[in-house]
Amino acid sequence: MIDISDDVPKYKKKSKTKPPKKIDHKHTYEPCLIEFPEQYYLKEHNRNGKTHFQFASYCTICGKVGHIDRDRWYKDTKCREGNRSWIKVDFSEEAERELNPETRTLPVFWGECWLPKFVDI
Ligand SMILES: [Zn+2]
Repeated sequence: MIDISDDVPKYKKKSKTKPPKKIDHKHTYEPCLIEFPEQYYLKEHNRNGKTHFQFASYCTICGKVGHIDRDRWYKDTKCREGNRSWIKVDFSEEAERELNPETRTLPVFWGECWLPKFVDI
């Protein structure tokens, strides 16, 4: 048996305090997905682990959640039937690709609700 414990530092120096968040900065937003429990308002009852995704953006420096680029992720189709008209909302093709875990390029963050104020980066 080879003892390699000498090569492994026993104590990793960890800083006890988190580095202060940069408060004084211009938020730099990048698109992301927020994954949240299906029934976030009843999350204690949500034991099946089912989740949903929400398109959003987050600041790469502090994690603040920003606006949703609606035009990018959704497409509206004007529908008309007789004198009735309505707008049908679908995901854009890009959104469909991002919702598919195999073709996804966006980072995914966990959210307690569909649009948290901050995400953990
Ligand atoms: Zn920020």
